[in-house]
Amino acid sequence: MALVEPSEPSAGGRRRLRLRSPATLREMGEIDVQTAEEVRSAVERARKAAPGWAATSFADRRQVLERALRHLVHHEQDFVDVIVQETGKPREEVLATEIVGACDALQFYAKRAKRILADHTVPLHLMKTKRLLISYRPLGVVGIITPWNVPFLLSLNPTIQALAAGNAVLLKPSETTACSGELVERLLAETDLPQDVFQLLRGDGETGAALVEAGVDKISFTGSVATGRKVAESCARKLIPCTLELGGKDPMIVCADADLERAAGGAVFGAFANSGQVCISTERVYVVEEVADDFTRRVVEKTSELRQGPEGESDVGAIIHGPQLDVIEAHVTDARARGARVLAGGQRNPDYRGLYFEPTVLADVDHSMQVMRDETFGPILPIMRVRDEEEAIRLANQTRYGLGGSVWTRDKRRGTEIAKRLGSGGVVVNDCMVTYGLPEAPFGGRRESGIGQVNGETGLRSYCHAQTIVIDRMGTKSEFLWFPYRARKGRLIRRLLKLVWGTPLGRLLT
Ligand code: NAD
Repeated sequence: MALVEPSEPSAGGRRRLRLRSPATLREMGEIDVQTAEEVRSAVERARKAAPGWAATSFADRRQVLERALRHLVHHEQDFVDVIVQETGKPREEVLATEIVGACDALQFYAKRAKRILADHTVPLHLMKTKRLLISYRPLGVVGIITPWNVPFLLSLNPTIQALAAGNAVLLKPSETTACSGELVERLLAETDLPQDVFQLLRGDGETGAALVEAGVDKISFTGSVATGRKVAESCARKLIPCTLELGGKDPMIVCADADLERAAGGAVFGAFANSGQVCISTERVYVVEEVADDFTRRVVEKTSELRQGPEGESDVGAIIHGPQLDVIEAHVTDARARGARVLAGGQRNPDYRGLYFEPTVLADVDHSMQVMRDETFGPILPIMRVRDEEEAIRLANQTRYGLGGSVWTRDKRRGTEIAKRLGSGGVVVNDCMVTYGLPEAPFGGRRESGIGQVNGETGLRSYCHAQTIVIDRMGTKSEFLWFPYRARKGRLIRRLLKLVWGTPLGRLLT
């Protein structure tokens, strides 16, 4: 079911896309797709605006972020309305993730960017005649390309980080959630950000590809592995840095000593929140044999209590992106054909016209099934019984992804040890999916889940070049290592070499 369809071209000859709500299938409007030429002009304007913005103080940038924060807090309902209508998510979910997450990010970077990006001196271990200063210089113009699953927060968060670091920004949100992406523009229009320091680009993959090619200084991409690969190839050709936040297949390990009530609740939330459309959703569970029946019974019970639908209170929202529904259905069909049992759900919700898939629990699954190997990105919770924790770790690591995961045990030290053995960018012990919501935590994937990390000090600094400035402290007429090379100098270097690296005292002091 396509929710984004081609429409009649605009008067100016631009392609146009017609959008529908996934909750009701009602038409929501149309967007123009900006052309490569328009993208290049936008980059040129950003290039002109960038030096002025880079020269602003952290106090000026803080003011912009704080103004945005104030506006968002006071008008949150308007923002929630747009996102709910466009994504079919429950209102409370939008409030708790998109809005709270955005407020926290705005406040976090407004308050801390100055400290995180301050020039700092690094004491030198050897060459005491020099002073080393690290200065975080803005990159210039940053292109940000974002997906549809958490369309406001995932667009706003990298944007404000890049701005706080002193860059001009071009944001290309997903065409599937064009209106939620536009909210970033609406919010920043309420601040007095100078013209062209932030620009929104409307369009689809073609516009995104044009942005990568248009001469920006960095691409921050969040989306699928397939598109991430294309973006990485283009960036490699242009020799520009990129961070790639891609898909995942997060494992959940339930140990024999886990608090099963909490673990079952965590599994249901981790798999069905945002209708399973989170890069760090729980996508597969490994539970040890001795507690598997008890755990599974609790999961099924909790799943049966979940509410769905476009009206009134609900827990599990719509599938936001039409083609994703086909992937979800294909995974369930494949699992069934290979012997999986459906303990709950298992089909599109027949009660609604919109794109709702019932929260689904599968048992008797194994790694021959797509649902255990490929990202499903939907409300599906496959539970696999394993002999012991060792088998759980081995199977959890049998994947081409490496984004998140969780371990459930009453022994927190053991949980931490298991976490370290998982090949994931981040792991949570006795909870799930909180890693993106902690701005202090560097967030990113390993293997096909991506390259680089976002958020926190690491993420903010990735929007800068850490420039090395070395200052001579002594002001002598010449340096020992300068010309001329003489045999006497060679003998002295040899003596120093023996003294510094050839003696315990020398090694201790360096
Ligand atoms: P997608 O790759 O289809 O699209 C993402 C963005 O890229 C969209 O804005 C799209 O218009 C644009 N795009 C498409 N083709 C392009 C091209 N050739 N060049 C440049 N841009 C192009 O992904 P999606 O379906 O929107 O998002 C779902 C995926 O995102 C899932 O795999 C999910 O796991 C992943 N995701 C990852 C994270 C993370 O932080 N790791 C967060 C959220 C979502």
